[in-house]
Amino acid sequence: MAAERPTVVVASNNPDKVADLLALIGDRFDVVARPADAPETIEDADSLEGNAIKKASEICDFTGSAALADDTGLFVEALEGRPGVYSARYAGEDASYEDNVTKLLTELDEAGATEPEQRRAEFRTVIAIIRPDGSGLTAEGSIGGVISLDRRGDNGFGYDPVFQPDEAEGATFAELSADDKNDLSHRARAMSALRLALEHEAR
Ligand code: IMP
Repeated sequence: MAAERPTVVVASNNPDKVADLLALIGDRFDVVARPADAPETIEDADSLEGNAIKKASEICDFTGSAALADDTGLFVEALEGRPGVYSARYAGEDASYEDNVTKLLTELDEAGATEPEQRRAEFRTVIAIIRPDGSGLTAEGSIGGVISLDRRGDNGFGYDPVFQPDEAEGATFAELSADDKNDLSHRARAMSALRLALEHEAR
């Protein structure tokens, strides 16, 4: 008889993330969405890993099931790693994607970083899974690229219109289809790393 699959609750409200995770670990876990009445986590840790663990732990405590959470940041070399862990609220607590991108382009302009090699950046994602017995795993994925001089493309979200991944021949993430972005993105790489870690653990 096949072993029963354990439940894992996805801490994110974002349906795209739930779908991604289902594709990645749906054969090993019964993936369920976060309950609507779960409290919002205050993401005040000083690392992606800290925030991912905090989000997953709070949902695990609330539901009594294993929980999975991710946290992402854009680290820009010329800005000493900013916006980094604070990517969601770079331009302020209620900043829109638009506000954050404007602030990023302005800061790079003010730093005199006009050449591609002066505009190197990396997206990093950390995914954490925490179980009711307190055990857990984390995995990281990243992708390097360049911040473009201007916004280009209509797809994606966040900093996608200004991030040119090294593998995309000058296109920004927002100029790629969702499938092409998912083939190489930081989040997809973190998910693959998590899958490997889970397989390793099961051996
Ligand atoms: P979160 O960890 O998903 O909350 O992401 C933090 C912030 O990073 C978001 O508000 C977005 O602005 C940005 N971000 C996360 N993932 C991506 C991505 O795949 N492309 C562009 N921006 C992203």
